[in-house]
Amino acid sequence: MPLVTLRQVLDEAGKGGYGVGAFNVNNMEQIQAIMEAARATKSPAIVQASRGARKYTNDRFLYHLMLAATELYPEIPIVLHQDHGNSAQTCLSAIDMGFTSAMMDGSLLEDGKTPSDFEYNVKVTKEVVDYAHKKGASVEGELGCIGGIEDGHGSGQSRLTDPDQAVEFVKRTGVDALAVAIGTSHGAYKFTRKPDAAILAMNLIIEIHKRLPDTHLVMHGSSSVPQELQDIVNKYGGQLKQTWGVPIEEIQLGIKNGVRKVNVDTDSRLAITGAIRKHFVEHPGDFDPRDYMKPAREAMQKMVEKRMVDFGQAGHAGDYQPIPLSEMAKRY
Ligand SMILES: [Zn+2]
Repeated sequence: MPLVTLRQVLDEAGKGGYGVGAFNVNNMEQIQAIMEAARATKSPAIVQASRGARKYTNDRFLYHLMLAATELYPEIPIVLHQDHGNSAQTCLSAIDMGFTSAMMDGSLLEDGKTPSDFEYNVKVTKEVVDYAHKKGASVEGELGCIGGIEDGHGSGQSRLTDPDQAVEFVKRTGVDALAVAIGTSHGAYKFTRKPDAAILAMNLIIEIHKRLPDTHLVMHGSSSVPQELQDIVNKYGGQLKQTWGVPIEEIQLGIKNGVRKVNVDTDSRLAITGAIRKHFVEHPGDFDPRDYMKPAREAMQKMVEKRMVDFGQAGHAGDYQPIPLSEMAKRY
């Protein structure tokens, strides 16, 4: 089946009461890991590329790898999503290429660093929504500031989402999905202790969902950074400092309260790095990239499968037929 829209996949997730992991990719092996995990668990898949990923791959390579995924996994609904677009231009170029969804992160100015004001955010997000919806593509916005810096993106500060503003933002922009800042952050070093209610404002999600029951909420920076993945990296020569991610049970609480898209990147990076380090320590004579990329791909697949089961998307790949973009466009 062709690439499907984020709107359709999240609408279905809403009906079914589950969440869908959105996994970042930069190369063929990561795409393959996600697709194999989706097939093994019969899950819909959201594959997302940051600006950095589009630059690294030269996005034509990435796009054609995704077309290969639709050919090779015809039973899986697949969304191709632009992660953290810094400007309308970034989002528009993704949609023109064939991405079925884009995130306009207007919480920051175009430099991807400086926090913006509310009116700027509304204006730039609305511009992307107007363009995308005409073509049937979906748009995710962001309100508040998610902490941490990843791929050079982020202000480093965190500012929680205000529920009143969220209502106004959705009304004025018409976004399909909204990323909310609840105290999570990008990157591996999220928390210096296991996060609890004092750190993660899950009550905000509950409040925003109550006020915006028809808007799909998105949790960013939601890798769980499991201890065993940290341990493998460090056992084989890595030097990661101890860190904590977002516990699965907190994500599941979010999913019970309107979170439909859960962004995961760091866990893939850790799984891949751990497997490659282990391989080289155990087989120092190897030099064929396939020898270490294969276990790396398998390690990421195993992690992704686990998330797909935990988020509840497993078993739902066959629930629906793709709605063409032209048909989605008529619905707006
Ligand atoms: Zn993010």
